[in-house]
Amino acid sequence: KPSIVWFRDDLRVADNPALRAAVDDGAAVALYVLDEESPGIRPHGGAARWWLHHSLTRLREDLDKLGVPLLLRRGPAADVVQKTTTAIGAGGLYWNRRYGSAERTVDAGIKAWAGEAGLHVSSFQASLLHEPWEVTTKTGGQYKVFTPFWRTISAQDFREPLAVPEAGHGFSGKLPAYDQLESWHLLPTKPDWSGGLAEMWTPGAEAGHKRLARFVANGLSNYSEGRNRPDTDGSSCLSPYLRWGELSPFEVWHALGSKRSESASIYASELGWREFCWHQYFHNPDLATANLRPEFDRFPWAWPGSRNTGSDSSGNGKHPGHESAPEEFRAWQQGRTGFPMVDAGQRQLWHTGWMHNRVRMVAASFLVKNLGIHWQLGEQWFWDTLVDADPASNPANWQWVAGSGADASPFFRIFNPEAQRVKFDPQGKYIAHWIPEFGTPEYAEEIVDLKTTRAEALEAYKEMREVH
Ligand code: FAD
Repeated sequence: KPSIVWFRDDLRVADNPALRAAVDDGAAVALYVLDEESPGIRPHGGAARWWLHHSLTRLREDLDKLGVPLLLRRGPAADVVQKTTTAIGAGGLYWNRRYGSAERTVDAGIKAWAGEAGLHVSSFQASLLHEPWEVTTKTGGQYKVFTPFWRTISAQDFREPLAVPEAGHGFSGKLPAYDQLESWHLLPTKPDWSGGLAEMWTPGAEAGHKRLARFVANGLSNYSEGRNRPDTDGSSCLSPYLRWGELSPFEVWHALGSKRSESASIYASELGWREFCWHQYFHNPDLATANLRPEFDRFPWAWPGSRNTGSDSSGNGKHPGHESAPEEFRAWQQGRTGFPMVDAGQRQLWHTGWMHNRVRMVAASFLVKNLGIHWQLGEQWFWDTLVDADPASNPANWQWVAGSGADASPFFRIFNPEAQRVKFDPQGKYIAHWIPEFGTPEYAEEIVDLKTTRAEALEAYKEMREVH
């Protein structure tokens, strides 16, 4: 009997333990389900849908080379997986684990059904270097501080990546009806805002591996400096490949070599932050909608955001959204706040689906602390516009900036976008690239006074702490 390999956040054929085990077992059929219906599943944002479309196209090409057909189906995963398994007469199901609560509920349900139906189910660790339930503090709880968390994890020896399976294990029997990728309408049409994304990115595992090799050869040795400089190619730009599992963290880890320079160790610890975000998300499934520090529920936001506007993450493509939000929010989204570091970042995000990490911190801090707008609105905007939009890293980092998260930056550490610009874009190259009108009368006027709004934010924080 054939088996089904259910692809999820692991759109690759190399270092894919589920695929490897399935083909070792005999003939395999690959399945990808676009599930926007199961309870609690967060629909993808617009930029993510663009990436997914291209990534599935590449995955199909890679699977074709192995002779493994890829079936695409849209619908609630439990329903689709059961129907497909039955239609093919599969004897087993293989997948790599996912760690969101809603996803785990779906998977557990399918596992229970499969058990009753006499099917064999195997799941594997592939997307994270650690299994969140296996790594605990001495008292058996979750880690809330990064340094001891990463010390514990990185002391381990991570397995070597697995090679691409040999060709010739595909299923050649009759396949059930499946969807055409185009029928999912993942690509934008009117307006088509994806030109800049296509200029910057080539989704898929092959491009991910090339980028990784290039970074290790040219960028890694200078990463400790380069990572802070949005005006250079100092960071790896691997985030979307890791997000979609076109590269595995095991591949990236081992590409860093065993004898590590200071830069390579810092880079490895960034992979650690990714793990830490997922650790938090595993233990706090409502990371995107609830403050990890409950005292922040009392924070007197100038604009409380989603509690008033409702969720904007419709997943139907990039859109202005938040119609009732204040003008300041739209100015922030569109990169016309009058603060060049914020505006350049927001324009880079809109154009390319990515923003440099330093600038993400500056733009997020400005929204939350200078505009007093709830971090959840910013999180939702990033969710819709980032090609690396990640259900764990996005909310965890927003909460880090807002001060409401685990091991977060203290609230009173407020980024000054002007000081950050002088320090990290000293020749003004980044700003000149994204804001050609900078320094001319056409450029936006500053929408707030940094000093006053900083003082107001600190006052609001004090108020929050005083209320009992
Ligand atoms: P590099 O500096 O080359 O880092 C290598 C890899 O380490 C990254 O690809 C990423 O996988 C991981 N990484 C680095 N920094 C972090 C971090 N702070 N948290 C988690 N993982 C990290 N990253 C996402 O992948 N998805 C998101 O949705 C996301 N949202 C963010 C929102 C805010 C407000 C902030 C401040 C940061 C966010 N980040 C997110 C983290 C970080 O900005 C990006 O991972 C990084 O900019 C990606 O570029 P890079 O691959 O060149 O990073």
